[in-house]
Amino acid sequence: MSNTNPLQQYFRQPKIFISLPSKGLYYASGSFQGDYNNVPIMSMTGMDEILMKTPDALFNGEAAFKVIESCCPFVKNARQIPSTDVDTFLTAIRIATYGNILNISQDCKQCGAENDYEFDLQNTVTYFQNLRFINEIKIDDTLTISIRPLSYEQINYFGLENFKLQKTVAQAYNITDEEEKIRITDQVFADLSELQLALYLASIEQVKINNQIVTDQEHIYEWLKNMDRDVFNLIKSKLEANKSQWEISEQPVKCGQCEADNIIKPILDQTNFFV
Ligand SMILES: [Zn+2]
Repeated sequence: MSNTNPLQQYFRQPKIFISLPSKGLYYASGSFQGDYNNVPIMSMTGMDEILMKTPDALFNGEAAFKVIESCCPFVKNARQIPSTDVDTFLTAIRIATYGNILNISQDCKQCGAENDYEFDLQNTVTYFQNLRFINEIKIDDTLTISIRPLSYEQINYFGLENFKLQKTVAQAYNITDEEEKIRITDQVFADLSELQLALYLASIEQVKINNQIVTDQEHIYEWLKNMDRDVFNLIKSKLEANKSQWEISEQPVKCGQCEADNIIKPILDQTNFFV
């Protein structure tokens, strides 16, 4: 009996090839193997699709990790995908599986008529591909911070921790014992600010003071805790600007009824994107 499966020729094949916005940078060693400029993407299998519709697996990111590894043989560890590439992978997998048109129904903001629009996801892939991650924040003439994108695993971790804390804040409003309410609220806000510090720390690769380079995480953490608010806010605004350019591009559309200008913007969320 031959070891070669005669059915192999009917296995799924790459449907599209993409170029990664990161240009292959920021991947931990071994987590990506192949040409970043020519990355094959296959459609989802039936199993992948089931996984993408399982709420528990979605919640901790496990489903998306597995599906990306399943649909892209170059990705050896999806947890290590830098934030710059995550939406490109998800969009490309959706294109490979269901085609490049995403149907969006939206009411006109002018007349309220319901319109059906078609959003071309290929434009999104092209848009991401031409973005550049800003990897430096210049504080002043002597001080420069090098930053890196978070990994997919870190994005999930910070998202989940933030979600838990926000939930605790919401629950705290229902506590009738005033002292207990204040105690819990204070704790949550302290935890939230620690979480923000941890996120900044994860985003900072190194700090350059003239010709000296600081990479020690504890030193950087101490600096984050003891810096002027102006410097802190500068770092915050640069990190947020980097993040917001990586959001999916809007598309101007006209209402079919009254011809008013509207904007459609699909949300790249696994829970609605893949259903
Ligand atoms: Zn209208």
